[in-house]
Amino acid sequence: MIPILRTVAEMRALARVWRKAGQTVGVVPTMGALHDGHLSLARRARRECDRVVTTIFVNPKQFNNPEDLKKYPRTEAADAALLATVPVDAIFAPGPEEVYPEGFITTVSMAGVAQPLEGHMRPGHFDGVATVVTKLFGMTLADRGYFGQKDWQQLQVVLRLVRDLNMAVEVVGCETIRETDGLAMSSRNVRLTPEGRTKAPVLYAAISAAAKDIRAGQSDRMAIREAAETMRAAGFERVEYIELRDAETLMPSDDPARPRRMLAAAWLDGVRLIDNIPV
Ligand code: AMP
Repeated sequence: MIPILRTVAEMRALARVWRKAGQTVGVVPTMGALHDGHLSLARRARRECDRVVTTIFVNPKQFNNPEDLKKYPRTEAADAALLATVPVDAIFAPGPEEVYPEGFITTVSMAGVAQPLEGHMRPGHFDGVATVVTKLFGMTLADRGYFGQKDWQQLQVVLRLVRDLNMAVEVVGCETIRETDGLAMSSRNVRLTPEGRTKAPVLYAAISAAAKDIRAGQSDRMAIREAAETMRAAGFERVEYIELRDAETLMPSDDPARPRRMLAAAWLDGVRLIDNIPV
């Protein structure tokens, strides 16, 4: 059985023992409802670090939509069983009152890369992410933090955060794990109806086609418009954005010499799906 720690004091005490013994600590922050995407991060941490902690915390501060927070899947027993297959050394699963006790008033607030796209659609989201990641790194004494490219903008936000605050943590970005039909694995996928699930891969297919067309010389706008039309025709209720951006700053980019990323968010079956790919 992998130990499940509930308090910051316990987590700290264990991490201190590891650090004292000269062991490196790899941390994989998650919100639980684990799937193979999360496990790939944990497996990579297992290969690269002496000790691995997976944190499971559904962070209320990064949800701008109370319904989404309420409906977020919570499957701790199943998560623990999956993490035992890696295996990780500890699961850190504090409650909200442990992370945000009475009197908590500090927010890590970020501009720049945290503002467009997800930052624009979900006000306060990245401040919530930056705050909790700062806290989790502090609580676990992390040497390395593992994050998925699935949440590309989040990964760029965390890279910037660590640089700006001189945190002694190496941020490792890990490849997006997909279902065989291309759909990026996500804890929210279970909320799709069986019919929605058959349509969901169109998101990845549409942005992949657009990226290919752009590389072949088609105009960005035309390619993106076609991708949005394909998704609407497939049954997506709403395409929130499909954007070609500078891969690091997330600002609009028409400079093919810089790494660029196509990022998209769209609603299907009342579920918000996001994905991104290099262009
Ligand atoms: P979440 O539990 O959704 O907050 O995700 C926790 C971490 O897992 C984040 O760093 C995500 O980017 C990463 N992640 C989620 N889905 C995937 C995926 N399909 N492939 C790779 N990483 C993922």
